[in-house]
Amino acid sequence: MIPAAFDYKRATSAAEAISLVSQYGDDAKFLAGGHSLIPLMKLRLAQPGVLVDIGRLNDLSYITDKGDYIAIGALTRHMRIENCDLLKKEVPLLAHAASHVGDAQVRHRGTIGGSIAHADSASDLPATTLALGATYVATGRRVSA
Ligand SMILES: Cc1cc2nc3c(=O)[nH]c(=O)nc-3n(C[C@H](O)[C@H](O)[C@H](O)COP(=O)(O)OP(=O)(O)OC[C@H]3O[C@@H](n4cnc5c(N)ncnc54)[C@H](O)[C@@H]3O)c2cc1C
Repeated sequence: MIPAAFDYKRATSAAEAISLVSQYGDDAKFLAGGHSLIPLMKLRLAQPGVLVDIGRLNDLSYITDKGDYIAIGALTRHMRIENCDLLKKEVPLLAHAASHVGDAQVRHRGTIGGSIAHADSASDLPATTLALGATYVATGRRVSA
């Protein structure tokens, strides 16, 4: 239950995070809340050589009314989605689904982006956002939002 050795880099911006992951390629993984990745690492089912910590990029944590759609940042925690009045009114299924993720501790650390990127078919938010017809916006070395 102890992960293999890895390097740790803390990104201070989304651009730096993308640059670091590009630099280390398949050996690197983003660390958001760590609620799926760290258990996998402890079981040695994942052994990334480098973790790029994006957990403090607060500008990727938002729920914004864009008029004809609502934008949710990748680092928005489940607890915030659960308690968001805008989502409770406009997309109650998403707020409800978020309230069923794990326990309060998990919901305070886990992120919607991590849940969707991890894509566990048993997870609540990938299935819910798919059913709601969500659009997923990815940014990377060759793709910008
Ligand atoms: C005890 C426990 C109970 C749980 N119960 C439930 C449950 O009932 N329902 C449920 O749906 N989930 C449950 N989960 C999982 C939880 O929802 C996690 O929040 C979710 O799996 C994602 O974790 P994270 O945000 O911490 O991402 P991490 O674990 O940090 O990352 C997960 C993966 O996504 C990648 N990643 C993370 N963020 C990004 C990003 N912005 N862009 C690209 N890639 C990214 C990482 O590199 C990694 O591969 C549980 C977890 C625990 C530990």
